[in-house]
This record gives sequence, C-alpha cells and structure tokens, in this order.
Amino acid sequence: MGKFFQRCQEDFQCDRCGAMARGSGYTNHCPQCLWSRHVDINPGDRAASCGGLMEPIAIEMKKGNYVILHQCTRCGWQRRNKTAIDDNFEAILAVARS
Ligand SMILES: [Zn+2]
Ligand SMILES: [Zn+2]
Repeated sequence: MGKFFQRCQEDFQCDRCGAMARGSGYTNHCPQCLWSRHVDINPGDRAASCGGLMEPIAIEMKKGNYVILHQCTRCGWQRRNKTAIDDNFEAILAVARS
C-alpha cells in the first residue's frame, strides 16, 4: 500500500573528531567540529558516492540564521547547511573568523 516517508534519524559518529552526533533528520554535520561528509546530493538522499569529508569553510548569515558553507576535501563540491541549535557556537565563530 502506501509508502512511509521517514526522515533519516540515525545517530552518527564524526569521522574527524569522533564526537557522537544525534541524527535529527536535518543535521548532517558534526555539532562539535562542524565537519560533514559528502554523502548527499540533495539533503538526506545519501545519493552521492564520494564520501569525502566536508570542511566548514565559511559562515553566512541568512535571515538571522547562521549557514555553514561546506566544501568537500575530496572533490571540491560545495553545499550550504543550516546550523542546528546544538552546534558548538565557538566552532561556528572560529569558522566565521577564519
Ligand atoms: Zn566532529
Ligand atoms: Zn566529494
């Protein structure tokens, strides 16, 4: 019958700093160091085969929210990701300053 549409909510461990991140279905980056992985083409679809680590290279302000610009260290692909409330604010500031 009908299909269930579920957001991906699995917890994951950061490949860079080892912190455990709780999957919210929206967050795909580490709340501690903000690094992500190149696994999605569109958010949550896990359709990318690259799998490279994605470095937070810039912070942008959009409508009062911080947006992280991630760049894949393997293929150079870039994507913007919204910050989450449990992201480490010091880490966000550190990227913004760099
Ligand atoms: Zn991390
Ligand atoms: Zn990549």
